[in-house]
Amino acid sequence: MTLMFYNDLTRTKEKFIPVREGRVSFYSCGPTVYDYFHIGNARPFIIFDVLRRYLEHRGYEVTFVQNFTDIDDKMIHRANAEGITVPRLAERFIEEYYKDADALGIHRATIAPRATEHMAEIISIIIKILRKGHAYIVETPSGSGDVYFDVKSYAPYGKLSKQSLDELEAGARVEVGEVKRDPLDFALWKAEKPGEPSWESPWGRGRPGWHIECSAMSSKYLGETIDIHSGGVDLTFPHHENEMAQSEAATGKPFVNYWLHNGFLLIDKEKMSKSLGNFMTARAAREKYPPLAIRLFMLNAHYRSPINFAPEGLEQAAGGVTRLRNCWTNLLHARQARAEGDGDAAPFLEELKALDERFYEVMDDDFNTAAATGILFEVVRLVNTWLKRERLPLTFFEVAEGALRKYDEILGVIGVEVTPDADADKIERLIKERGAARKAKNFARSDEIRDDLLAHGVILEDTPHGTKWKRKF
Ligand code: AMP
Ligand code: ZN
Repeated sequence: MTLMFYNDLTRTKEKFIPVREGRVSFYSCGPTVYDYFHIGNARPFIIFDVLRRYLEHRGYEVTFVQNFTDIDDKMIHRANAEGITVPRLAERFIEEYYKDADALGIHRATIAPRATEHMAEIISIIIKILRKGHAYIVETPSGSGDVYFDVKSYAPYGKLSKQSLDELEAGARVEVGEVKRDPLDFALWKAEKPGEPSWESPWGRGRPGWHIECSAMSSKYLGETIDIHSGGVDLTFPHHENEMAQSEAATGKPFVNYWLHNGFLLIDKEKMSKSLGNFMTARAAREKYPPLAIRLFMLNAHYRSPINFAPEGLEQAAGGVTRLRNCWTNLLHARQARAEGDGDAAPFLEELKALDERFYEVMDDDFNTAAATGILFEVVRLVNTWLKRERLPLTFFEVAEGALRKYDEILGVIGVEVTPDADADKIERLIKERGAARKAKNFARSDEIRDDLLAHGVILEDTPHGTKWKRKF
């Protein structure tokens, strides 16, 4: 089996060979924590969570780093608008990030570094770039200096986004307040401005530009050359182009061996983004749709293709999750009911093996989750067909259960750990307590119980025959 990735640097599919055998260093650009993240941002978080899970499943020891951008213009504006400090704002939205990400089954990064906690590393890489002659300092009226990357001094610039200097020049803009020598240059360090957080540096007080944080944190935690760097396709330019230029200018070594970018999540054919105002937060989405369905929706497309965010797609995914869940619970129930089992499981094993081989084939071929989820549904169809049989051998149950557990561990769309009956006693007890609270007109308590259960994915329905409950998968 050969794992291949489409590498945006070479624009070809390449065999994956990690720098250190058996290990993968993986950096994924994380959120700017000035607000809730939207369902477009959720796409890379979910997609690269699955890639990481797959690499782990394939036996690699993966160090997965996803940063929090906790200082930039958007952070400062929002903090000022709310009358709170930037660190307070960051704290709040990092907490909110984890609420949504955990609910969406996104495994926590091995390391989740914050820009503001890495000033020493950021300053040290800027010093290296200055020493190599690829950056310059401009004194500002405050007495502190801006530091800019000198794009024209660095010949390979444009190699990731495949743009020539002429093309780049046509699109270059100078931001208000910037005093750079060339419109192509970008800020590594911004001199302090009144009302903005700032840190000591050899160029006076100031704060880092956006791109430099990823260069600094990537090399700190993963080394100068890493295996995989990922993010949405909008990050290719300028963010990743700049990260690569800075890092390679500083170290003289390749920064990243495989660049992976996910396509956009579109809404009415436009990129979902905060600035266009056409977004739905992940928080709102998971109130409307089961988290497993949101994951399945993302995985139903190839990660590099654009996807359209439409209710039909989400509802279809929700239907798919129900099918997966039903198969899983039916399998468990059937096993309990017919544990003695007999018969020949060989034809099942053979068919499953063929499907399983295809699963690895498509996942190895540039991580094709769209094909992989298709195969998962074929497995479910196969299991369902076998479940209709009168006599079922124990091997069937063991192997089918093992297979579904494995696919869930990689894709996270079945929710095998959420066994519907595991908490049944506790839920029933709370329903009784809620009934008693309602009788006593203690609606605060009865609402609290309902909300608590809902927060744990349990939906209550009051019917003429009493209160029923079901899981929100
Ligand atoms: P940001 O917080 O804006 O830096 O975005 C976090 C991640 O979400 C980055 O990897 C972006 O490329 C990605 N992203 C933003 N909008 C979309 C979108 N509409 N579709 C897919 N990915 C997106
Ligand atoms: Zn980044």
